[in-house]
Amino acid sequence: MVTATCPHCEGSVDLPDGATDVFTCLKCGGQFGYLPDEGEGMEAEVVPLAPDPMKDLPDDYERKVIFGFKLGATILGGIGGVFLVIFLYYICEALLFGIGLSIALSR
Ligand SMILES: [Zn+2]
Repeated sequence: MVTATCPHCEGSVDLPDGATDVFTCLKCGGQFGYLPDEGEGMEAEVVPLAPDPMKDLPDDYERKVIFGFKLGATILGGIGGVFLVIFLYYICEALLFGIGLSIALSR
């Protein structure tokens, strides 16, 4: 039995002797490839295969970018809404003016 250190969560994972394969950490579910110690200075090597599940959480920078997008969308949405109301107001004014004009002209 060989004990490898999970590259994702630093937990120890028991592996069969001489196994060169892809293993899944029981603690964090992360996958890693394991190359056993082959002697002649070749040390056993653990290769992370799947991204660290913890890294799936947005980091500080990503949170700021997401926040920026949300803020921008909210501001743009607000401005767009105000413009829409103004636009509709002027359309109504134009319609009322047109109706008034046509009534005045029909007399
Ligand atoms: Zn792990």
